[in-house]
Amino acid sequence: MSRNAESTAFRSALEVIRAVEPRVADAIGAELTDQRESLKLIASENYASPATLLAMGNWFSDKYAEGTVGRRFYAGCQNVDTVEALAAEHARELFGAAHAYVQPHSGIDANLVAFWAVLADRVESPALKKAQVRQVNDLTEADWFALRRELGNQRMLGMSLDAGGHLTHGFRPNISGKMFDQRSYGTDPATGLIDYDRVAEAAREFKPLILVGGYSAYPRKVNFRILREIADSVGATFMVDMAHFAGLVAGKVFTGDFDPVPHAHIVTTTTHKSLRGPRGGMVLCQPELADQVDRGCPMVLGGPLPHVMAAKAVALAEARRPDFADYAQRIVDNAQALAEGLLSRGATLVTGGTDNHLVLIDVSGYGLTGRQAEQALLDSGIVTNRNSVPQDPNGAWYTSGIRIGTPALTTRGLGTAEMDQTAELIHTVLTQTTAGANADGTPSKAKYNLDAGLADKIARQATDLLATYPLYPGIDLS
Ligand code: PLP
Repeated sequence: MSRNAESTAFRSALEVIRAVEPRVADAIGAELTDQRESLKLIASENYASPATLLAMGNWFSDKYAEGTVGRRFYAGCQNVDTVEALAAEHARELFGAAHAYVQPHSGIDANLVAFWAVLADRVESPALKKAQVRQVNDLTEADWFALRRELGNQRMLGMSLDAGGHLTHGFRPNISGKMFDQRSYGTDPATGLIDYDRVAEAAREFKPLILVGGYSAYPRKVNFRILREIADSVGATFMVDMAHFAGLVAGKVFTGDFDPVPHAHIVTTTTHKSLRGPRGGMVLCQPELADQVDRGCPMVLGGPLPHVMAAKAVALAEARRPDFADYAQRIVDNAQALAEGLLSRGATLVTGGTDNHLVLIDVSGYGLTGRQAEQALLDSGIVTNRNSVPQDPNGAWYTSGIRIGTPALTTRGLGTAEMDQTAELIHTVLTQTTAGANADGTPSKAKYNLDAGLADKIARQATDLLATYPLYPGIDLS
C-alpha cells in the first residue's frame, strides 16, 4: 500500500469517528502520538502493520459465528469461514502445525481452550466411554457428579512465577490455579537457568496431567525436546505457551529442540507480541486433540471475533514472508546488544544475558526496587515494566527487576548501535535515581528521587534516538 493510501485510510476513518464522538477520535490520534514519542521496551508489545490494523475495523465485527469453519450455529457465515480458514491455513504453514484454532480472543483464552481440550480428551472422554454414553447429558447424576470431581482434581506442573512463568500456568489468583492442583519448577539459583534434572524429578514426584513449558520473563532458550521426554516419562500431556516468543519460532530463530511445535502435544500463543499481529490468541495442536480444541467456543470462549480473525490472517501472511525471518533475527541481535551494553556498564542481568527477545535487569544492584526503577525510567521517556526476579525478596508488586524487550523497537528499525545508546540512557537513569523514604523516615519501596532536569534531558535524548525511525511513516494525520 502506498503511503498516501495509508494516510487517506486512517484520516478518513478518524473523520467518520469524529463526527459521532470527537473525544474518541482525539484519543486515537493522541495514542499514535504517544506511541511515536516513547521508547517502548515492553517485551510483550509491538506495532502491528497498517494492513493488520485496518483489517480489524469493519463489519466483520457485526457477525456472530459460533462453531467452526463449515459447522456454525449461525447462518450466513460464509465470509467468516473464508477468513478463519485463511488464518488457520497461514498458521499451520507458518509453524508446521497439524491443526490451528484461531478463535481465542487472547493468550489467557487460548490457554483455557488448551486446558479444557486436554481435560476433555484425558478425563471426560474416558469417563463417557466407561459409562457407555456419547455425551455428558447422558450421564447419570451420580456419574456426572463423579466426573466433575475428577475434572477438578487434576495436576499441572509449570514454571514458577518468579522464575518467569505466567499466572495462567496454574497459579492461585488465576482460574487455572483454581482448576488445577499445581506445582512449579524453578531455575537454578546459581545460573538462573532451567535445571532439567530438577524438572524431571518434580514430574516424577508429582505426576502431573499437564506439563507446561513457556514463560513471560525467562531470557533464554528452552529445550522443548527434553521437556517432552520428561512429559512422556510420566504420561503427561506436554503443553507450551509460546505467547512471548512466537515471532522467534515463526522467524525460524528457534528451531530444532527450541521450536515447541514438533515437540508439544499442544501449543498456545498470543498473536500480538513478537508475532506482531492483532491482539488475540491461537492454539496449535497434534491431530488427536483437534476436535476438542475446536470446541473452544462456546466451551470457554464467547462468540468469535471475525474482524480479529481477518487481522490474524493478514498478520500471519506477513509473517510467512522472508523479511519476517530477518525481523526475528534482528529482535534477538538487538536484545543481545542491549544486554551487552548494560553489562559493560555494570548492570546485573538475570542469567547474565539473553538469547531471545528480552532482558531482565536485577535493579537491586542500583539500590532500587523494580517499582522505583520503572517509574524513574518512565519519567525519562523510557517505557518498561517491573518484573520479579528469581527468589525475589520484594514480591510480585514491588519486585527487584525490570523486564525490557526489543520486538517493538526492532519493528521501528532501530539496530544494535541504537541499543547501545538505549543501554546508556537506562544505566544513567538507574544510577542517578535513589530510593526514597516514607513520611516517618522508613525506606520506601515505591518512592524515589530523580532530578527532574535530568529526566527531561534523557527523555529528549530518547526522542532524538527515535527521530530517525518514525513509527508508521506512511501515516500522516495532520
Ligand atoms: N501467556 C503468556 C506466557 C503471557 O506472557 C501472556 C501475557 O502477558 C499471556 C499468556 C496472556 O495473554 P493475554 O494478555 O493476551 O491474555
